[in-house]
Parts: sequence; C-alpha cells; structure tokens
Amino acid sequence: MNKIVILGAGYGGITAALRLARLLKKKKDYEIHLIDKNPFHTFKTQLHEAAVRNVEVSVPINQIIRKTSIIFHQQEIKQILTKEHIVKLQDFDITYNYLVLALGSITNFYGIPGLQAHSLTLQSLDDAKIIYENISGLIDEAMTSINENNKKDLLRFVIGGGGLTGVEFAGELVDYLSRDNRLVQGLKEVIVIEAGNRLLPNLDEKMSEEATKRLINKGIKIITNTKITNRTADTITLSNGEIIKSYCLVWTGGIKISELIGASDLKIGQLGRVLVNEYLQALDHPEIFALGDNALAINPTTGKPVPAAAQFALQQGRLVGENIFAEIKGKEKKTYKPKVFGEIISLGRHLAVGWFAVPFIKKLKFIGFIGSLFKSAVEDKHILLLRKESRNWTSWKG
Ligand SMILES: Cc1cc2nc3c(=O)[nH]c(=O)nc-3n(C[C@H](O)[C@H](O)[C@H](O)COP(=O)(O)OP(=O)(O)OC[C@H]3O[C@@H](n4cnc5c(N)ncnc54)[C@H](O)[C@@H]3O)c2cc1C
Repeated sequence: MNKIVILGAGYGGITAALRLARLLKKKKDYEIHLIDKNPFHTFKTQLHEAAVRNVEVSVPINQIIRKTSIIFHQQEIKQILTKEHIVKLQDFDITYNYLVLALGSITNFYGIPGLQAHSLTLQSLDDAKIIYENISGLIDEAMTSINENNKKDLLRFVIGGGGLTGVEFAGELVDYLSRDNRLVQGLKEVIVIEAGNRLLPNLDEKMSEEATKRLINKGIKIITNTKITNRTADTITLSNGEIIKSYCLVWTGGIKISELIGASDLKIGQLGRVLVNEYLQALDHPEIFALGDNALAINPTTGKPVPAAAQFALQQGRLVGENIFAEIKGKEKKTYKPKVFGEIISLGRHLAVGWFAVPFIKKLKFIGFIGSLFKSAVEDKHILLLRKESRNWTSWKG
C-alpha cells in the first residue's frame, strides 16, 4: 500500500490531511497517516487565553477525522530518515511515499543563561496549562502572604518578547488580573521586555504605537531596546543593568524549528526552516513537502520569506494536499502564492488591533472592540473550515 505520512496535526498538517482525504476518496491504493504526539488539534492562536483563563482551545483529532479515511497515530516523532523514506516514531517505524513536514515551531532561548531552566514558554497546550497553574499558585501565595513587598514580588509577571505572542499574552493577563482578580489590584505588575525599539514589529509603526498606548493604559509596563541577559529562579537581569525580581517569566522572544528537521539531510535556512520550491517541495526531495512554520516559503511578489503564521499554514496545507494529489495523478502542480488577508492581534479580552486587505484601500486598519469581534470571527472561520473539510458538522467546539 502507498503511504502519505503527515507529521504534525496543527493548522497546516490537519488541513493537508483533510484535503487529501477528500481528493483521494476514490483512490483506494493510498493511505493517509497523520501523526502527532497529542491526541488533539490545538487552536494555537488562542493559547494565551488558555494560559490565563484555562479556556478550551483544542479538539480531539479523532473527532475531526471521524468521517474520513485518515489513519491517526498518537506518537512522538523521533527521527526522519530521508534516504530510506522512513520516519522513526516512539513505538514503531513508518515508511512513506510522500512525506509532509508540519511540525510547527519551538521556543528559541538564544543561549541566554538561565532562561530555558527558569522561564515558561507558550507553544503548546501543556505550556498553557503550566502557565495557568503557575499564575494561580502565585496569586494564592500572594493572598496568604502578610508581607506587602513579598506580595508585590509574587504578583510581578514578566513577559520576554513584545511580538504577537508576548503582546497577546500580556493583554490577556492584565485584563484577568484587573477584572477577575480585584484582590490583586494595586499590587500586580505586568512588564513586557522587548529587545527591539517597538512592540509588534510586523505592524506598521503607527499601529504599533497605538497598540502600545492601549497596553500602557491597561497598566502594562513596557521596556523596549532592552535585552534579558540572565535569569535565575527569581531574578531577571536586563542589558541596562537593571535586575527585576519575578517568579514568573514567560519567554516569547523567539522561535526556531525542531532539531528533528535539522538532523535530517534536508536543506534548511533561517531559523532551521526547510528550503522549498514554488510547489512547497523540499529542495532535492520532491517526495517531501514542508509547510507552515516548517517551510521557508518565499512570497514571489516580495521575494521575502512568508512569516510563520496560522493563516499561511492553513493555505499551504490546502496547497500541499492538492499538489500531492496532482503528483499522484501525474497532473500539473500549483505554485504557491500567499494570500495576505490581514493581521489581527488581541490586546486583551475585548480589544484588538489589526488590518484587513481590502480592494482599492489596500489596508483597512482598526483598533478597539470591533477588532476583537473580527478576531473571534477569524477563529470561528477556522473551526467552520475544519468542519467543512472533514464533512463533520457534529458539535465539537462552539
Ligand atoms: C500564543 C500564540 C498566538 C498566536 N497567534 C497567532 C495569530 O493570532 N495569528 C497567526 O496567524 N498566527 C499566530 N500564531 C502563530 C501560529 O500559531 C503558527 O504559525 C501556526 O500554528 C503554525 O502552524 P503549523 O501547522 O506550522 O504548526 P502547529 O500548528 O504548531 O502544529 C504543529 C503540530 O506538530 C506537533 N508536533 C511537533 N513536534 C512533534 C513531534 N516531535 N512528534 C509529534 N508531534 C509533534 C504538535 O503537537 C502540533 O500539533 C500564534 C502562536 C502562538 C504560540
């Protein structure tokens, strides 16, 4: 039996699997194997909400694929042997005719002393649960402490990195501490430390400035042009010499791609992302496709790498499904042209900043409550598309 093996059931991987399952419905000589270490698909763009408010941001993979021919294996991927066409999993090996790399990204600590050992990360549902427990524990401890200074130290939360993840988490956290936890008001401190000269470098300067103002109004302290140079269990040393006391540092300052991919013989570029051609095939390996955070896809219009973002992982997942089908059928493959629909960044529970691509105006910018409605609409659209692709309208999530 021919096998298409898809590594990772995140945004890109699950989309590729579902698209292939539909296209290959009548072709019974191909099996689709989807592999993930978790039994659930995570709505990663909502992880900050899970980390602060413990909300549900995942859905069981078996529920999504229930009405398809996809074979799911809950397995940790250990090694990719490209010459032998084998992937080594925790319990068995699997061979492939086509392989899809959709493993997402991991946190980059840049070798900063103490950072990996003493900071929390926000890349997975497990990470979100650990942050939630950590925050809850510190609040409980602060409430029972009789020393005012100790209370303040316990309630000082620091976020390293002022990009999308750091900002979304900071906004969510400050809202939670201010609104849902009136007992900690006046004592809590949320600090964002950013090495660059402004937050949200992907947005234009004006929007980033406006978003920063809103975050400051919410009570977040923002320190830019400053790096974290050392971390111990309770201190954070900054490049300006300042030392901040904090028991909770959430590090969102950088991503890289899993060493699994680096250890294979695939050609990699920036951040360890796989170099791909215009069809998203790995260079020198037409049987391997890479997508989402794993792929260093180039936008043919700008000549620049496509950013690591959910909207591109979803588009690439669909295209990879179609291109593998085209290969099997001996048909022409489609070239990858990213569609940029816009960007929305949440600044707390009822506030978001962003823009939509609109004909003629080009960028329709917004900030405020309306932005948070747009953000929920985009998230709902993902769930709707999953349901549509899987032909499964039963009531998972929402
Ligand atoms: C907090 C947060 C907020 C974000 N917000 C936004 C946003 O608002 N908009 C946006 O566009 N992007 C956002 N992003 C980025 C976006 O989530 C990623 O770009 C996107 O998830 C990439 O999709 P992917 O399919 O490449 O990988 P992922 O969705 O990360 O999926 C990777 C999958 O691979 C599995 N996996 C990894 N390693 C192994 C292994 N060794 N064995 C088995 N399974 C493995 C994982 O369990 C996971 O299911 C955010 C990211 C974070 C962390």
